[in-house]
Amino acid sequence: MLRNEPLAGHTSFHIGGPADFYIKPPCDVFIEEAAEILKKNRTEKTALFILGLGSNILVSDQGFRGTILDVSEWKGCVIKAKPDDAGKENGKDGQFGAQSGALYEICCRSGTKSDEAARFALEHSLCGLEFLAGLPGTIGGAVWMNARCYEKSLSDILSSVEILDESGNKVIVPYRNEDYDYKKSPFQNRDILILSASFRVKKGNAYEISQQMETYRKDRESKGHFSYPSAGSVFKNNRTFGKPTGKIIEELGLRGTQIGGARLADWHGNFIINTGGASAHDVLSLITLIKDRVRLNLGIELEPEILFVGF
Ligand SMILES: Cc1cc2nc3c(=O)[nH]c(=O)nc-3n(C[C@H](O)[C@H](O)[C@H](O)COP(=O)(O)OP(=O)(O)OC[C@H]3O[C@@H](n4cnc5c(N)ncnc54)[C@H](O)[C@@H]3O)c2cc1C
Repeated sequence: MLRNEPLAGHTSFHIGGPADFYIKPPCDVFIEEAAEILKKNRTEKTALFILGLGSNILVSDQGFRGTILDVSEWKGCVIKAKPDDAGKENGKDGQFGAQSGALYEICCRSGTKSDEAARFALEHSLCGLEFLAGLPGTIGGAVWMNARCYEKSLSDILSSVEILDESGNKVIVPYRNEDYDYKKSPFQNRDILILSASFRVKKGNAYEISQQMETYRKDRESKGHFSYPSAGSVFKNNRTFGKPTGKIIEELGLRGTQIGGARLADWHGNFIINTGGASAHDVLSLITLIKDRVRLNLGIELEPEILFVGF
């Protein structure tokens, strides 16, 4: 356990003050240590934040008063069921039934990088996870956020999620359509730890899978996703307002607006970048400026997608 650990190095924004306590349990004892921390935390009623790769958060300059539980060492994927097993084991509940058309299931621990999960599927010529290629962050973070890209949400391929629940028990939460929506998962209202997620996949052509993954990675690079530290899109982009949020912001001439070290990217109306030395205060001020301008000019209330930690 580390005390006063600066969180800037644990976020894709490279921003954030120190956490009182920071713990990253090693993989071989992950569940035991994580369960212990959750139990202690509940008994002592102290603040806890579960951290994946910090690619969707803005941490305050004052840091976090409480414990950060970093799950990024809890990695690995397995093929949980193949057609034969599936027929026997899952035939009754329909998980692998003819309706779903899914013949294989891949199970990934929550600290696995989303990109690595996609690579694992490719190694086994299984298709369905291609859209996760190049997506920053962990599987746990992607499930919690119900990450969405290239017209697909994580929930589109999910079959179940294993969690440590509020009482510290391992529980399998089967996928239910009504629990998920745009950037919404049932775990956002619960005090739980995601241990792993299982995905429905099919046998595919390795060459085609890898080509598709490469297209997504290149697309992200060409859109400047990795040119500067950021947390991806700042505002939700559910197109409720008829066009992409980035476009709405761009049309108000806001691209390139800068406060301190935080700048609204010159090439993307929904990306705030850290040009070097940006504080959380700079980013927050820029977010407020953008929200105010959009509200004033268009009467639209933008909703941040990134999460605010320690504010
Ligand atoms: C350049 C860039 C591009 C991006 N593009 C996209 C995109 O196309 N689509 C998209 O949806 N997002 C995108 N994002 C945002 C981000 O990558 C995703 O939301 C990602 O899935 C977050 O994963 P993470 O591990 O970094 O989560 P974190 O940021 O660490 O955490 C996010 C939330 O998940 C919770 N959480 C994480 N792991 C667990 C766990 N094991 N158990 C319980 N709770 C957990 C955290 O407590 C927190 O509330 C982008 C980000 C960047 C920097």
